[in-house]
Amino acid sequence: MIDLHCHTLHSDGTDTPEGLALLADQVGLAALCLTDHDTLDGIPSFLAMQPQVRTRLLVGTEISCRYLGHSLHVLGLLVDPAHAPFQAHLLDQRQAREDRNVRMVARLAELGRPVTLEEVQAQSKTPLLSRVHFAKALAVKGHVRRPPEAFERLIGDDGPAYVSREEPTPAEAARWIREAGGVPVVAHPGRFAGGRFRWDDAMAELQRQGLEGMEAYYGEYRASEQTYFLGLAARLGMVATGGSDYHGAHKPGLALGRGRGGLRVPDDLLVALEARQQAGNHPVD
Ligand code: AMP
Ligand code: MN
Ligand code: MN
Ligand code: MN
Repeated sequence: MIDLHCHTLHSDGTDTPEGLALLADQVGLAALCLTDHDTLDGIPSFLAMQPQVRTRLLVGTEISCRYLGHSLHVLGLLVDPAHAPFQAHLLDQRQAREDRNVRMVARLAELGRPVTLEEVQAQSKTPLLSRVHFAKALAVKGHVRRPPEAFERLIGDDGPAYVSREEPTPAEAARWIREAGGVPVVAHPGRFAGGRFRWDDAMAELQRQGLEGMEAYYGEYRASEQTYFLGLAARLGMVATGGSDYHGAHKPGLALGRGRGGLRVPDDLLVALEARQQAGNHPVD
């Protein structure tokens, strides 16, 4: 069993990278890829745990892209964390996120739900501020009773306080990831645009734009979704990947490796992923 999608407190999860490496070993994962949003900041302390755990620890990230008017997440699996241009692209993403956060503070004030950036920062142990931290701050201020209500009433994708940010196209993100030696993968396609999207043609288009895989196993999929995306990946000749999207206490009831209980990502997906990575890299001697 492997898990190729999870978050630490370097983005919007609650575990430390060290804690996640130990947890992976404890639950018996053969491999775990850390995929924090827009950052590789958790990677050094994650990889430093390798001698202490049996789980293979792998490098990744998750980038938010704009596609057909909706947010599409792209995983960069097996990227080289020392690749300077890739780090620079992630820094740009974090800057766009910070600009968004400033505008979201202004929007919430207009809506009579004021919260300061400092109050949001108080909910995060690292500099990266996500809507998850806004949700907690809004609850602390008493604007909502509990953080999920903040997504439902204010900051969810269709909410009145939702503020978009500059996002790359999937083609751009795929190019950055491939240049950094990684494999670009469409994250949780079954959750795109409210979940009712028909993927057959769109996935073929994304493949032409450089996407090489899709998340066919996911912590919150129904069995029918897993079957559909496994079939689509096979038909298109794209790699199938899988992960829980574990966020620690920020997604209660979602376990590393096991998702809501029924998830089991087979080890051989990693073999296929690494073969694809090797095929994509053409080192010059
Ligand atoms: P951001 O990247 O700052 O826009 O925040 C997006 C993150 O918020 C996602 O990665 C999820 O972890 C979380 N999120 C988005 N929508 C919801 C929702 N409706 N309920 C709970 N969490 C959500
Ligand atoms: Mn998240
Ligand atoms: Mn995502
Ligand atoms: Mn994720």
